[in-house]
Amino acid sequence: MTALEIAPVPLLKDNYGYLLHERSSGLTAIVDPSEAEPVLEAAAARGWRLTHVLNTHHHSDHSGGNAGLKEATGCKVVGPAYDRARIPAIDEAVDEASGFRFGQQQAQVLFIPGHTRGHIAFWFRDAQALFCGDTLFSLGCGRMFEGDPAMMWNSLSKLRALPDPTRVYCGHEYTEANARFALTVDPDNAVLKARADRVKALRAENRATVPSTLGEEKAANPFLRADDPGLAARLGLAGAAPAQVFGETRHRKDVF
Ligand code: ZN
Ligand code: FE
Repeated sequence: MTALEIAPVPLLKDNYGYLLHERSSGLTAIVDPSEAEPVLEAAAARGWRLTHVLNTHHHSDHSGGNAGLKEATGCKVVGPAYDRARIPAIDEAVDEASGFRFGQQQAQVLFIPGHTRGHIAFWFRDAQALFCGDTLFSLGCGRMFEGDPAMMWNSLSKLRALPDPTRVYCGHEYTEANARFALTVDPDNAVLKARADRVKALRAENRATVPSTLGEEKAANPFLRADDPGLAARLGLAGAAPAQVFGETRHRKDVF
């Protein structure tokens, strides 16, 4: 039994919330609760009492459950300091300097704007777990609603610098569609092809494709590979800056 138990909670149509439970302290958090009721049920089913909500960003499919959960349990709502005005029911604002303490676990907070201007990730180093919301997806990345390619590429580069075994807990089950797109820009990538086949088989049985590991993403996710000369050349951008290659890849996905 690891020190930090992690249980995915499917929410809405294709969102994932994640329950985190530390046995020694009895603390229980939910990352990005779209809604309250299924989170309360999932926690109760395990005999866990909710103590924290952690938000990666303000979008309602990640924070819609904040107020209801706080009312039902008295839990503390933790979210990005830069965006505190847009986080419902926030109690504790965190940034890269503060980090976040969860019992014996120290989470590093990574500021990764682009999808929204205040987006953060929680990296539990000892547990080798990254909660990255809608910035990095399995085989994809989030849309740039409030940022530009240079900002988003910088944020993704920050995540890419974490250790390969890091498990990537992202906000949505988008992997199968992401794989279809990834193969159009990186068709000869053997790692990607093998991964796409596995993802297709999992989804055919309605099983989750997350978490992946960061090592797998570095090898197969085109949005982490904008500085790969082969990928740049295939997009007709040989020699271009990685942020530009990233921007072109993101644009193609937007219209895919
Ligand atoms: Zn979002
Ligand atoms: Fe989302």
